[in-house]
Amino acid sequence: VALPIHEAVLGRATEFGDAPALIDGTDGTTLTYEQLDRFHRRVAAALAEAGVRKGDVLALHSPNTVAFPTAFYAATRAGASVTTVHPLATPEEFAKQLTDSAARWIVTVSPLLETARRAAELAGGVREIFVCDSAPGHRSLIDMLASAAPEPRVDINPEEDVAALPYSSGTTGVPKGVMLTHRQIATNLAQLEPALSNGPGDRILAVLPFFHIYGLTALMNGPLRNGATVVVLPRFDLETFLAAIQNHRITGLYVAPPIVLALAKHPLVAQYDLSSLKYILSAAAPLDASLAAACSQRLGLPPVGQAYGMTELSPGTHVVPLDAMRKAPAGTVGKLVAGTEMRIVSLDDPDKDLGVGESGEILIRGPQVMKGYLGRPDATAQMIDPDGWLHTGDVGHVDADGWLFVVDRVKELIKYKGFQVAPAELEALLLTHPGIADAAVIGVYDDDHNEVPHAYVVRQPTATDLSEGEVMMYVAERVAPYKRVRHVTFIDGVPRAASGKILRRRLRERT
Ligand code: ATP
Ligand code: MG
Repeated sequence: VALPIHEAVLGRATEFGDAPALIDGTDGTTLTYEQLDRFHRRVAAALAEAGVRKGDVLALHSPNTVAFPTAFYAATRAGASVTTVHPLATPEEFAKQLTDSAARWIVTVSPLLETARRAAELAGGVREIFVCDSAPGHRSLIDMLASAAPEPRVDINPEEDVAALPYSSGTTGVPKGVMLTHRQIATNLAQLEPALSNGPGDRILAVLPFFHIYGLTALMNGPLRNGATVVVLPRFDLETFLAAIQNHRITGLYVAPPIVLALAKHPLVAQYDLSSLKYILSAAAPLDASLAAACSQRLGLPPVGQAYGMTELSPGTHVVPLDAMRKAPAGTVGKLVAGTEMRIVSLDDPDKDLGVGESGEILIRGPQVMKGYLGRPDATAQMIDPDGWLHTGDVGHVDADGWLFVVDRVKELIKYKGFQVAPAELEALLLTHPGIADAAVIGVYDDDHNEVPHAYVVRQPTATDLSEGEVMMYVAERVAPYKRVRHVTFIDGVPRAASGKILRRRLRERT
């Protein structure tokens, strides 16, 4: 698919015409496909007139709003590479990303303007800050709609030119800028499409952030390419989320495991009519099969499906097709998308390919593998070997039918006396305890220098007397001795990235 991303996504926008492309889940503001198409062209023209040139990096700093896609596609149409920024980033964090990406332009929203200004001051090099809504002294996208400037003629080479520069979640270290070309993103959309095919009449709830590659693909590019309606929420709040599903008759949810957990366990869920839902798909972090089953049974839905990917893979390589959710084996993250190769290699000997059922590191080769990390050739070379295989750092295995199961990250595996324990497995087990609302497990060293599991546990409000001993006993009764949890700490909440991943390094900092 050698098209610039805005063309790949909006190619059929005129055909969808008056159908709602985006609806604000809080106030109902609606943008039709015709408007989205017209608006992004006008804004592209105005950005070009303001000086945005091909190859410039534009930082898009906004929570999910109906204007977000307009800003994104306008920027790429003007030839810019868009680096999406966490709306809760501090000025210092934002400044780092601005400096690292050498961004020249910022698009923000008025409530975040002070952060953006401060970040631009700290970083230097930013020529102008635009706002999506309106703010005195700043050009706004709304004004730009009236622009009479001619549409920019930018010669985009989809094979080479970077459309998006998302930063990885920073789960394992410093977030890295990932260069994704127009072709890589557009190709991955096409690869995922046969499995996900949303179309006119489907209503997708965008509660995970557009700024993360999962949201950008599953909640923005994918549905908008196919005429579905995207209902946007600026952040996750369980009541607003449930009300939005009910009021907007949402048909499909793309979520991360913490939301599946809430849907499976939270008492509030029973108070809403969620009968419009046809499917739930989870990605971004390990989802336990029993938790998935508890969620789908409670809601009377087909089993929760999964997808697997990473920022460096534009992002998807595996997905459970919507029409296969009932027959896919429990716990799988899906099947390999077309045009992509996978190997599973031994953790001890990376040259050794493993067979069905054997767990090892997942390697991927295909057209969706990133161009590279921005300004980090060594990190890129570490990740992608000379034969083009990207080393995911994740452990998994496939069954005889090719369904992939992800165990955990290689780096997170706890090595206890020659055995390996996956934190994700223990976390899933802990969550089956009725008194446990949430849990995270990390490896710590005991006095004998053995790495052992340490569980951080959030008690259910009704289980204030749950003790460390009870938690350890609960696990000990259900796992082989080497997997036993040896330490328990009660905490108020598990630290997570915006994409739903447990930030284990935050827990490690506490010990
Ligand atoms: P960083 O690379 O900066 O440390 P990160 O790896 O969390 O952060 P992302 O690119 O957002 O950044 O996440 C990709 C990772 O998410 C994968 O490598 C994998 O560990 C995890 N992941 C994604 N989907 C799934 C899934 N379905 N099951 C288990 N893990 C998943
Ligand atoms: Mg990563």
